[in-house]
Amino acid sequence: MSGAGFEIQRRWSRRIQVGRVAVGGDAPISVQSMTNTETCDVAATVAQIQALQAAGADIVRVSVPTLEAAEAFGAIRQQVDIPLVADIHFDHRIALRVAELGADCLRINPGNIGRDDRVRAVVEAARERGIPIRIGVNAGSLEKELLKRYREPTPQAMVDSALRHIDILQQLDFHDFKVSLKASDVRMTVAAYRLLADRIEQPLHLGITEAGSLRSGTVKSAVGLGILLAEGIGDTLRVSLAADPIEEIRVGFDILKSLGLRSKGVNLIACPTCSRQNFDVIGVVNQLEERLDDILEPIDLAVIGCVVNGPGEAREADVGLTGGTPSLLYVDGKPYRKVNEQEMVDRLEEQVREALWRKQRDKELKGEA
Ligand code: SF4
Repeated sequence: MSGAGFEIQRRWSRRIQVGRVAVGGDAPISVQSMTNTETCDVAATVAQIQALQAAGADIVRVSVPTLEAAEAFGAIRQQVDIPLVADIHFDHRIALRVAELGADCLRINPGNIGRDDRVRAVVEAARERGIPIRIGVNAGSLEKELLKRYREPTPQAMVDSALRHIDILQQLDFHDFKVSLKASDVRMTVAAYRLLADRIEQPLHLGITEAGSLRSGTVKSAVGLGILLAEGIGDTLRVSLAADPIEEIRVGFDILKSLGLRSKGVNLIACPTCSRQNFDVIGVVNQLEERLDDILEPIDLAVIGCVVNGPGEAREADVGLTGGTPSLLYVDGKPYRKVNEQEMVDRLEEQVREALWRKQRDKELKGEA
């Protein structure tokens, strides 16, 4: 079903460039994750970055806690071709080194670097190479003075913290930055981003920090990021899960897909099942999800258990299935053939891949690909 008429008006933001990926302006909202391997283990980190890229990640962040890790970051940079954000805390020497070694973005808070000359050196290194900076405020590590003033982390305290870091960059006439304001509390995060969205023109990186396990983290992120995205706030996002980072990418895209903000891979529409179902909907859906996991191009697939909602959904999708006696497969909105339960998964996979092939061919004929 199309979302025509419900388009989200995105907040205008100044566009920055994280390697080849634009963030802000009218660029698609990008999806990021972060490696959780030991950065000095170059082979393991490269393998994880490649897996994240294969899952559709636009940008990957790598933590660089030491100078030794900075050298490993350089080796990693040479072996992957996706924009990399180097995550640095405090140590300006690490920032300078990864800038030399090809970081596409520095995640460092200028207010935590210390002496002015050090801050200036990092900003000049970033400016020279066209590397943006991400300011990352976390409710769990607010400055002591702010905690004293506000007594506890609050949205305003988070925004004040961000504005301090922002002010340092702006004093140095540096404007290529993006900002995140993360808390593990959904309401606090939403309130903080709303406040900052009106104060600056730079892109916002969304996230709910320490959101939790696969299930609870997905729910918190979907609610928090969903509210903000629906209001047009957010230019890039990371879903933080205590799970395989690949899941962060999947959930990130699912959130964007649900709001019609980005399409990637199979948009699987399935009914929740009830006693009217004419085949094992859950089993078929699970098998299809696994088999079609490699697809990055957008395509709608509807799998519906009976004729109550089946024909309507199947007609709106690229490929659809309506349970019945017999069950009916739809292609491009039209009934295509009958299928029995044993062959359902095979036939659906086949039709999805053929539909993608036709879309690609049409694009080539129009000279778009
Ligand atoms: Fe039940 Fe049919 Fe609705 Fe699926 S579409 S939940 S099988 S009534």
